[in-house]
Amino acid sequence: MPIDPKLPYDDDNIFAKILRGELPCKEVYEDDHALAFHDIRPQAPVHVLVIPKDRFVSWDDFTAKGSDEQIAGFMRAVGEVTRLLELDTPGYRLMVNMGGHGHQEVPHLHVHIFGGRPFFQMIGE
Ligand code: AMP
Repeated sequence: MPIDPKLPYDDDNIFAKILRGELPCKEVYEDDHALAFHDIRPQAPVHVLVIPKDRFVSWDDFTAKGSDEQIAGFMRAVGEVTRLLELDTPGYRLMVNMGGHGHQEVPHLHVHIFGGRPFFQMIGE
């Protein structure tokens, strides 16, 4: 079920628990702004999620309320992760699902990084 992106931040969401160390993850990268880990149900040979450490429900929430430092720090972290995964030469795809039509399921902003093969189709069902 997609989330309602206008609801307040839920401290019990699964990514908040991962950030607090209450749930495990297969970590790829961490810095002051972001944590990156492998998606539990990978949809490509490489499928990594990058989440901000701060409490943002969605891309909408982040871009409306995030400070310049938070936004720049998070964006740089996404770039760092793609280079760490050596995806910068072959290329990769980024995706952010936002709200109902975006079919966002976890109410903590996350960027999907897909790599390891070419992606021909722009968008699926
Ligand atoms: P979205 O539809 O953009 O909200 O995607 C949520 C993503 O989180 C899905 O790709 C899930 O497979 C992934 N996911 C859910 N729970 C976990 C978890 N505990 N660890 C890693 N990935 C997860």
